[in-house]
Amino acid sequence: MAHPRHFFSTKRWRAMLSNDPYKKRLCLVAVDEAHWISHWGYAMKKGEMAFRKWFSRINEIRSIVGKVPLIALTATATTSTRLKIMRSLEMKSPTLIMDSANRDNKTYAVQVITPDPAQTFKTLVQELKEHKGLTERTIIYCQTIKVTTFLYSFFMSELGDDMYIDNSGDPKKRTVEMFHSRIDDLNRDHILESMGEPNGSVRVLIATIAYGMGIDCKNVKTVLHYGPSYNLETYLQESGRAGRSNHEMCKSVVLYSSLMMKHCSEEIKSYVRESSTCRRKILLKNFDVDLEKLPAAEPAHNCCDFCKKNCKCQGDCCDFVFFKSLFTDIQEGPTDCLSREVSDAQRANLRQKLHYLKKALRGQYLRRVRLENVPMFTPAKLSGAFGDLHVEQVLSNCEKIFTVTDIFKFVDIWNLSVALEVLFTFGQVFCDVDVCEPVEEPEHNDTSEFADLDIFDFDIEDSVLAGIQEEMFYTAEDSLFAPNEEESGSDVE
Ligand SMILES: [Zn+2]
Ligand SMILES: [Zn+2]
Repeated sequence: MAHPRHFFSTKRWRAMLSNDPYKKRLCLVAVDEAHWISHWGYAMKKGEMAFRKWFSRINEIRSIVGKVPLIALTATATTSTRLKIMRSLEMKSPTLIMDSANRDNKTYAVQVITPDPAQTFKTLVQELKEHKGLTERTIIYCQTIKVTTFLYSFFMSELGDDMYIDNSGDPKKRTVEMFHSRIDDLNRDHILESMGEPNGSVRVLIATIAYGMGIDCKNVKTVLHYGPSYNLETYLQESGRAGRSNHEMCKSVVLYSSLMMKHCSEEIKSYVRESSTCRRKILLKNFDVDLEKLPAAEPAHNCCDFCKKNCKCQGDCCDFVFFKSLFTDIQEGPTDCLSREVSDAQRANLRQKLHYLKKALRGQYLRRVRLENVPMFTPAKLSGAFGDLHVEQVLSNCEKIFTVTDIFKFVDIWNLSVALEVLFTFGQVFCDVDVCEPVEEPEHNDTSEFADLDIFDFDIEDSVLAGIQEEMFYTAEDSLFAPNEEESGSDVE
């Protein structure tokens, strides 16, 4: 067993693989987690380097070891990934063994959220305070360590002493934990062990993709994504952590706003933004599932948020909410199927008003810098609050924007007062938007609104995590080798 780079990048390994005694005994080449060939072995964009180029050269083993059967294994691969794997490994008419990706004990939903975690997670915090160690188990996946830490700190400050299953203050009795590649080993072992027990103390785990392959988790009822995964395969795999131990119904809910999707693939963007088709079908059509033969969920509300809307069972359980967050009166839910005609004149009017708003917000901010001595941010950061990009995003979705939630759905804004200003502008241009006039100079006693802007940006480390998920590389096996390995072909003999 070895990493492809060791097989192919060093002469010693190549020599070993091609010597006769070895070749004689070798009866099978197995490529495990083969979807990484497609994700890591090739450049994401033209002109970029592949993250692990050796992954795309596994086919070379055929010329080294001769005629030996080759098997490729993966638990999640879309149709296009499967074809890419077969091409890359030079498989000619291979035998395919596939299990359906459909899990009928799972309900799928998506929900637009606002910038405020206190609003998003209010119900979950209450539940933890009340039920502590008896809270239903939830995993919250985040895309970066930064967001994971941000959310964990939020729960910590909301819960205080209520974060423990008893009053001991024993760190091993926390009901909320976080998991990523940088936590210390002791904590890691404790979390893995606790999650492996159906009634373990950890009830809410906030995690990156590092909490992934090969882990054993029991009794998970809900998997939330605080911001969607990078692609559908990762999403399917992560959402699969719920409902493994029994056939009880469990939920998989993506919480998102436009700003949280900068790093996402187009498929997953359309998965979360789609609101007129069964979500399970949108997900599974990418995984070779014959949608015609897909058994209809019974009752329909068990399928997804779209099917729930059309469910006619009239049972008590039909009213359930996928994920209870708190919307205030100014934040109505998204208006999924609503749409308006926009004339050229209205569009021009809207454009002009949005540009005016952009300047006004900037002026307002600069005044605060002068008067209140708040920290000065760079122009880039300022336009990050509401700049040309946002104006264009608003304009290209103006047919579908009716509520503040719609704005979070389509525009990269992470600031409630800015979103309210934009909606107010809509009210001035279209008569179908019901808004009250915002306060002349919205109260900004919290400068963190601007500071929060980059929370969903990816720094170098995170962009690796988001796009190509390096976290999985920090395994015990890998630490045996030098981390800077890609070009170690100069093995001297
Ligand atoms: Zn459905
Ligand atoms: Zn129903």
